[in-house]
Amino acid sequence: MAWTRFTRKKDMPGGLWIRCESCGQMLFRKEFEAKHRVCGECGHHFTLPGRDRVALTVDPDSFEELHKSLAAVDRLKFHDRMPYKDKLSATRKKTGEKDAIITGTATIKGNPVVVAVMNFQFLGGSMGMVVGEKISLAVEKALELRHPLIIFSCSGGARMHEGAISLMQMAKTCGALKRLDEAGLLSISVMTHPTTGGVTASFASVCDVLIAEPGALIGFAGPRVIATTIKKELPEGFQRSEFLLDRGQIDRIVPRDKMRDELARLIAYATGKDPIEAFQGAWPPAESTEEVAAVAEPAEKAKPRKSRKSRSKRDK
Ligand SMILES: [Zn+2]
Repeated sequence: MAWTRFTRKKDMPGGLWIRCESCGQMLFRKEFEAKHRVCGECGHHFTLPGRDRVALTVDPDSFEELHKSLAAVDRLKFHDRMPYKDKLSATRKKTGEKDAIITGTATIKGNPVVVAVMNFQFLGGSMGMVVGEKISLAVEKALELRHPLIIFSCSGGARMHEGAISLMQMAKTCGALKRLDEAGLLSISVMTHPTTGGVTASFASVCDVLIAEPGALIGFAGPRVIATTIKKELPEGFQRSEFLLDRGQIDRIVPRDKMRDELARLIAYATGKDPIEAFQGAWPPAESTEEVAAVAEPAEKAKPRKSRKSRSKRDK
């Protein structure tokens, strides 16, 4: 798929310039990084490494990482182009991460949260035993502290090197999130480019509020597989955030530079705090009442809908 090829190119070290995969414009790398990997020309959101995502989202120095040492083992003695065990150690060396997810406690504009951030740089953000376990442990932490849980997804799907064990993580993470829902705690899923396969089909889609970054590819099977199977041309924008918002699959699209504010607002609504105060947390406070009103207006639209789970309970 095009985005897979592009991600490989994008990860090449060095180089002062980078070409935007969406508009083809050459971007000055420093400026591009300063914009948190968003194209200054067309607004295309590139994949953001997990650690950068954490730094961009939570309050400075508030992040305390959980279960950092959890690492996958090669239970199936799996081989493809190289043994899974070797692939794991090479990827760990290259990325400095143990697996494809970072979890921890933090605050967002002063609101305490538990966050889980997937890292596409680690084997395409694939979900194996560690991702499933760390999501479940993050849920348990949220239950213990009674804090909202925010999950940033970025994944090619289940990690096939772990066979059925990777697929079992779908049930496991959904079971954990159900407990969070029963405890009346908020869960927010932020789907970023790309969120596909078993991740879309499990924890990324069952949270109370589903947010996506603009233009993100979100789906189960890839568009080419679907087109070949149904033997039909797919509609324009198929499986992209805007297409999914239009059809009710996600609740809203939030650009990367507005994500922190939006999360703080949603948490404020869910926890009964004043959303305007929550918005102003680490932001230059509005000078006049008019500006406060302007700031507050999008929050009205941001009012989280009833969770899918509570809706289905009510329908029964
Ligand atoms: Zn562009």
